[in-house]
Amino acid sequence: MKKILTILGARPQFIKASVLSKILLERGEFEEILLHTGQHFDDNMSQIFFEQMKIPKPRYNLGIHGKHHAQMTGEMLTGIEAVLDKERPDIVLVYGDTNSTLAGALAAAKWPCKLVHVEGGLRSFNQDMPEEINRIITDTVSDLILCPTNTALDNLKREGLDKQPKLMVVCGDIMKDAVINFKPIALQVTTLLKDHSEIRLPFVLATIHRQENTADKACLENIFSALEKLQETYTVVMPLHPRTKAQLQKFNLNPSIVMIDPVGYFDMLALLDQCELVITDSGGLQKEAYFNCKPCVIVREQTEWVELVEKGFARLAGVNTQKITEAVAYFETAKLDYTEQIYGSEVGEKIYTALKQI
Ligand code: UDP
Repeated sequence: MKKILTILGARPQFIKASVLSKILLERGEFEEILLHTGQHFDDNMSQIFFEQMKIPKPRYNLGIHGKHHAQMTGEMLTGIEAVLDKERPDIVLVYGDTNSTLAGALAAAKWPCKLVHVEGGLRSFNQDMPEEINRIITDTVSDLILCPTNTALDNLKREGLDKQPKLMVVCGDIMKDAVINFKPIALQVTTLLKDHSEIRLPFVLATIHRQENTADKACLENIFSALEKLQETYTVVMPLHPRTKAQLQKFNLNPSIVMIDPVGYFDMLALLDQCELVITDSGGLQKEAYFNCKPCVIVREQTEWVELVEKGFARLAGVNTQKITEAVAYFETAKLDYTEQIYGSEVGEKIYTALKQI
């Protein structure tokens, strides 16, 4: 039986793994071992996802977090290499674009095993984003790249990766499966709206956490000034990422919107179900807005999920206060047709089939 070592570290990776790890366990054709780098470590950023989605307990937790990029990635590389030496997996599987992805990819690239990248080929064409560097390097050294979209595959071809002995397969977006798998149960068990009487309908769901948006005081002021304006019409609810919380404190900003602690995935699905609209700089949430038939204002200059913008489900507003409020006003009357499945379906099954080919 082939052994897969899956490297996880951040919240969106737990959500993606919940789909594939379940299939791997059910089919019993591969042995999967999970390694948690520790990048996200708070209970409400890590533990709750494993519990709610019944993701198997990681055999290893490196406990590496809260460090700068180089130190974090370097320590992860050393830790992952030690596990590779011990477990000797046939396949290393990484998700997405975090430092855990990069460390897993670099460690595996120099080890006699196959490297699989789930969510490969995405590009923002903005190398100021640490995530963009992580994606490009991971794809370059991967043996099997699972692309969520045809656009992602085209990106890889443009970089010449199709000239190399790699398998590249368009499977769709694995987060779609997570929404399908967990939304019914999430809506049954959530008590978030009951517990937070300050979240009154109609509300807008907002999340901000990207380094480029939180590092600078002026950026944060622009974003929160738009959200405060919207608070005149809606309740604006923001589950506050630890990085954003720290930066707001550092800059002495205390915006008057409803800020709550980060929520588990089930409560997030409930918020997505009940909200009018999503404002975010998150990659995952842009698509989850679409999967829940909610328009999305993207607080960035570009997105990797270009189909959302091209087809009118999302608008790019950057960190411009006026553009953010204008985009919200636009969506108040826009008629959007969500019948087309632009990010595929049964994605976990397609990834599983591709895994059997290497
Ligand atoms: N998420 C969550 N609780 C929160 C905020 C986000 O469960 O309080 C989920 C969200 O639904 C999405 C994922 O975390 O599935 C996105 O993670 P994040 O925005 O941290 O990263 P990105 O997608 O930008 O890589």
